[in-house]
Amino acid sequence: MFETRLKVYEGQRAAVSRVGKDPVNAPMIRHWCEAMGDTNPAYSGPDAIAPPTMLQAWTMSGLSGHTRGTHAYDELLGLLDDAGYTSVVATDCEQEYLRPLRPGDEITYDSVIESVSAKKTTKLGTGYFVTTRMDIRVGPDLAGTHRFRILKYAPLRRADRPAAGPARRDQSQKPSRPRPVINRDNAEFWEGVQRHRLLIQRCTGCGTLRHPWLPGCNACGGLDWDTVEASGEGTVYSYVVMHHPPFPAFDPPYAVGLIELAEGVRMIGNVLGVPYDKVRIGLPVRLEFREYDEELVLPIWCAQEGAAQEGAAQEGLYEHR
Ligand SMILES: [Zn+2]
Repeated sequence: MFETRLKVYEGQRAAVSRVGKDPVNAPMIRHWCEAMGDTNPAYSGPDAIAPPTMLQAWTMSGLSGHTRGTHAYDELLGLLDDAGYTSVVATDCEQEYLRPLRPGDEITYDSVIESVSAKKTTKLGTGYFVTTRMDIRVGPDLAGTHRFRILKYAPLRRADRPAAGPARRDQSQKPSRPRPVINRDNAEFWEGVQRHRLLIQRCTGCGTLRHPWLPGCNACGGLDWDTVEASGEGTVYSYVVMHHPPFPAFDPPYAVGLIELAEGVRMIGNVLGVPYDKVRIGLPVRLEFREYDEELVLPIWCAQEGAAQEGAAQEGLYEHR
């Protein structure tokens, strides 16, 4: 039967004796620490070690040199594709650190298909969890292991989804925008959006505001929270203009902003009310709610009137952290 055929792949190689593209090196460590905001002194200076959580970074082949899996791994995924489990989502990753990595270390790695689960039904659809374990070495020494799990699944058709209801299209048959993923942790946020209220989560232990919504406070670990309603004032903290690829339901080019709210938290949303090429860092924006179809309300950010004429907030352009 099908599951027996899948089980055959447990223990087979997914990658053999690969070599890291670059030795462990100080520039990559520095960029990582800057991006993560990690100022731990162990990661700089003459005796620096690499942050242990960079483990996978040293194995990555980059955009140019993507290497395929082994025959066994491709065959397993192909088998699942052919059986209708065509979608894939990474679900979790687990690392173990056995030896610090230092600039100059050259790594090699092997990967093995550790397990293929029994058939599981999830909110995304029914499928199989495939777990691979990568062993990363420096010479003969095991430096760490990186266990990575994906779900290969057959996506539910929209009409089968419990919450979404039938797909609705406007008269031009334009595809509808993707729905937000609503779960127990963020349900109250999306209920607020439906009522045209933007709610920010607040830790009742230490008062820290947070967004996106999370079950716990990153500042104090507290699990209790309430909400404050956003005033709706914000500025563009960063942005991208999407040209390509074109997604159904979207008309490129359009600007997607990382908006810093007056309350201090940041969130992502479309920047409207100004041509896409007039969006600038520091641009003042104001919250509005847009009803995209009968079901979908989203917060969007409108350039405040006249903002485009204010030299696109020139003074604000470069004064950001
Ligand atoms: Zn807190």
